[in-house]
Amino acid sequence: MPFVEIAAPSPNFSAAPAHERLGVCFHHTVMPFADTLAFMARPESRVSYHVVIAPDGTRARLVADEHVAWHAGVSVFQGRDGCNAFLLGVSFAGDTRTAPLTDAQVASALEWLAPRWAEFRWTMDAMTDHRQIAPGRKDDLAPAEWARLRAAIAARFGPGQSAVAVVGGVAS
Ligand SMILES: [Zn+2]
Repeated sequence: MPFVEIAAPSPNFSAAPAHERLGVCFHHTVMPFADTLAFMARPESRVSYHVVIAPDGTRARLVADEHVAWHAGVSVFQGRDGCNAFLLGVSFAGDTRTAPLTDAQVASALEWLAPRWAEFRWTMDAMTDHRQIAPGRKDDLAPAEWARLRAAIAARFGPGQSAVAVVGGVAS
């Protein structure tokens, strides 16, 4: 059953150049769901994600995929800096250092990923979290929760042969 998706627009984004959508950086908000949306609706906060996922799996869309949300800050992924330009920002409401992701949050993230995984031919190599792209500066997600999320993504989508699977029916 699909999760509810609501619009909670944030003014904190760059409209051009268009987002490259090469992969995803996952975060946690620390703040509760509603507080996060309120904070990111304020221009002076200067921060945003594309999507925030509540503990019950409800997703809030803050910034359109084609626009650059301001979630990563100083960051490097696969040798390239400025990750906001090419990694979409998906954040789980809560603090994974003190409480695990809910099953609904994981399931909702997979639901959000599904159409994009196919459209952009993402692979597991294109999935990361804030801790890994800003080491020493950021600590989201907690390593155990990242491992759990990563395993769930791999179990659902495989290593990234979705284009082959669609064409040839080959499971990977
Ligand atoms: Zn973060």
